[in-house]
Amino acid sequence: MFLMAGCTLQSLIDGGTKITMHCAHCSYIQVLDLELLRNRYGPEASAMPTDLLPKMRCRNCEGRTIGLSYAPDLTSIVDMGRSNAGNDHA
Ligand SMILES: [Zn+2]
Repeated sequence: MFLMAGCTLQSLIDGGTKITMHCAHCSYIQVLDLELLRNRYGPEASAMPTDLLPKMRCRNCEGRTIGLSYAPDLTSIVDMGRSNAGNDHA
């Protein structure tokens, strides 16, 4: 499982992870703009579902019965096979 406890918005952006939000009420699906969330809540804000969900609302029906799907960027997984020496956390 690539999603680790304590993972932050910045770490998801760095890893190329995408979060898709799906509304249980109206079935609306939206890919979250992680950079927007980072700008709003800060790079160290938790990206765990339990922390993100209270901030989220369906853009279509304003419902709060939503789920989050985390999907790794496949190209970054390939890159992880190489040396991961550059630990450049700005
Ligand atoms: Zn909805």
